[in-house]
Amino acid sequence: MPTRLLLATRNSKKLVELQRILDAALGGHRIELVGLNDVPEYQEVPETGLTFGENALLKAREGVAYTGLPTVADDSGIAVDALNGMPGVFSARWAGRHGDDRANLELVLAQTADVPDEHRGASFVCAAALVLPGGKEHLVDGRQSGRLLRAPRGTGGFGYDPVFLADGQTRTNAELSPEEKDAISHRGKAFRALAPVIAKVLPAGATG
Ligand code: IMP
Repeated sequence: MPTRLLLATRNSKKLVELQRILDAALGGHRIELVGLNDVPEYQEVPETGLTFGENALLKAREGVAYTGLPTVADDSGIAVDALNGMPGVFSARWAGRHGDDRANLELVLAQTADVPDEHRGASFVCAAALVLPGGKEHLVDGRQSGRLLRAPRGTGGFGYDPVFLADGQTRTNAELSPEEKDAISHRGKAFRALAPVIAKVLPAGATG
């Protein structure tokens, strides 16, 4: 039987992305990845951490506590240099309402309207945590550096993708294919960093 691993998210795109990365990284060792929609519902804690790592750990610990399954959780956002690293952990609710991607993006553009091109650096950051039922914890992170444009371009991706141009790219994240984005994204990097850890700790038993 394949080992079951919970990814504490309701976002099916993240499940597909992590599954693809695990398949590539783990070869024959099969992991059955399940999401929050596949396990009995539990009351999710608010993301009260001040860092991406704290939030990822909060969510992963909670998944283990409620399901008994080894759990991966990620937390991510955009850090804008001219805003002292904000929106950061507040990226999903920067304009007030959780998950209003368009309003969040427009607020950041308005706040940086006077910022000259040479100071428009920004990074997407992702922390990914693996917590085992026995209590062992692993935390990794991934970063995609680039800069903020002044107007959105492209229809792919989500969140701040249409205004983010990664270093070395001519297309915004929203103009890349999902595979192209995974290859250079903060989440792709964090998940790829976690894959060997998962391969190492799960076959020996998931009880940590
Ligand atoms: P979460 O970690 O999935 O909760 O993402 C938090 C927020 O960060 C999202 O709502 C987006 O606003 C932003 N974000 C995270 N990753 C990305 C990305 O790959 N592209 C664009 N925005 C992102």
